[in-house]
Amino acid sequence: MDLTIIGPWGGYPKVNEASSGYLLDHDGYTVLLDCGSGVLSKLQSLVQPESLDAVMISHYHPDHIADIGVLQHARLIKGYLGVKMECLPIYAHPFNQHEFTNLTYKQITKGMAYQPEDILQVGPFSVRFLRTNHPVECYAMRFEAAGKSIVYTADTAFKEELIEFSNEADLLLCECNFYGQQEASKAGHMTSTFAGKLAHEAKVKQLVLTHLPHYGRLEQLKEEAASIYQGPIQLACFGLKCQI
Ligand code: ZN
Repeated sequence: MDLTIIGPWGGYPKVNEASSGYLLDHDGYTVLLDCGSGVLSKLQSLVQPESLDAVMISHYHPDHIADIGVLQHARLIKGYLGVKMECLPIYAHPFNQHEFTNLTYKQITKGMAYQPEDILQVGPFSVRFLRTNHPVECYAMRFEAAGKSIVYTADTAFKEELIEFSNEADLLLCECNFYGQQEASKAGHMTSTFAGKLAHEAKVKQLVLTHLPHYGRLEQLKEEAASIYQGPIQLACFGLKCQI
């Protein structure tokens, strides 16, 4: 299973970069995980929009869904140009009907409701969900394939249930929108310290920090997480590829 970072930025994209977007690949099946602002542009230097097999959306904040519309346009126009492709499933929760409806566009994309209490099969991945602590309904996801696991926290304040949910994951892709001494939970986000605590208590094999803040010295996030978690830690950046 491969994870590739498209967009590591929280809130909005840094200049010439992207907010939340990640590629998961296994056995030639490619999932785009979240589709924030800037993702479609950055994505194209790694994979063509028509090559995606599925999209999964954690929640409907713009830094996670802003580029859905242009992804739909890209696949529509590539179709006019003769590129053959199937209707793209976009898996998302159905608890915001207005936003969910926008995921379906002509025969180009189709919104597919995941039910958070069920295990969902997406290509080779089985996916479990956990409701996070965030101002809007949002779901963390645990992907398993071929005996390996990746947990994506999506956006969330720290909550105890994340520890069990992330238990012994091969990789934890953890949001880290605040520095250690800041108050993050009221905003529905995590600090580097909580990311380290989650990685440590869940005994994950490696930690990737993402949904990064636009200020400060990012290496400090790693240092703060490393004061609690002893395993390997990386900061998400465009093009970072993790093979597990
Ligand atoms: Zn959010």
